Amino acid sequence: MVYTRAIIPDDFELPVAAFDIPQCYNGDLSAVVIPEGLVKDRVRRLAKDIHAQIGDQPLALLCVLKGSYKFFTALVDEMTNARSSCPEPMTVDFIRVKSYEDQSSTGQIHIMGLSNLDELKGKNVLVVDDISDTGRTLAKLLSTLDEIGVKQTWTALLLSKRVKRDVDVREDFVAFEIPDKFIVGYGLDYNQKFRDLGHICVMSPAGIQKYKL
Ligand code: 5GP
Repeated sequence: MVYTRAIIPDDFELPVAAFDIPQCYNGDLSAVVIPEGLVKDRVRRLAKDIHAQIGDQPLALLCVLKGSYKFFTALVDEMTNARSSCPEPMTVDFIRVKSYEDQSSTGQIHIMGLSNLDELKGKNVLVVDDISDTGRTLAKLLSTLDEIGVKQTWTALLLSKRVKRDVDVREDFVAFEIPDKFIVGYGLDYNQKFRDLGHICVMSPAGIQKYKL
């Protein structure tokens, strides 16, 4: 089975008016970049690719909150189907990482919920994150897992931005490679708004202004 990233071209944008958007976000978005249905289709295939590479070994899935909550639940469901004949169950764990304010990284990465990470010692861990931009968050998380003494790690990302990374980080499984735009929706926020939006979108100048801190 050949694993292939889905690449979203730089100019690919769909009109917001062509989609069902919650009323509370009227005027706050300028384009839909990845419709929710497309994410669902892509995650199904990604789960099969992950299973094909990792196989039936015991696996702990680590959800990096808050941004990956939707991707995580979709991926767990699809992984469960992909591993239906597997004798080893999967386990799930959750941590929270915070680094962004408005549209830019604060440069400080806070990892919360570390106490239960000890439970991952000696395990095979699939880190499930929303997006890789500078790469700093994922790199810090992977080095923390290394210090804890996990057996093996892989990373699964919903989105990988087409930018030069500040730090090189392993991106084992990526659902979509996207242009260098600040995006929201499907779990990703702008100052805690838009996480509940199903589609992955670009904000309008009015939306940016409305929810600025
Ligand atoms: P990195 O450390 O790779 O620069 O950034 C990782 C984190 O920054 C992500 O987990 C996410 O929370 C946030 N982030 C990076 N790019 C975006 C973006 O385009 N939109 C949103 N909403 N968050 C982003």
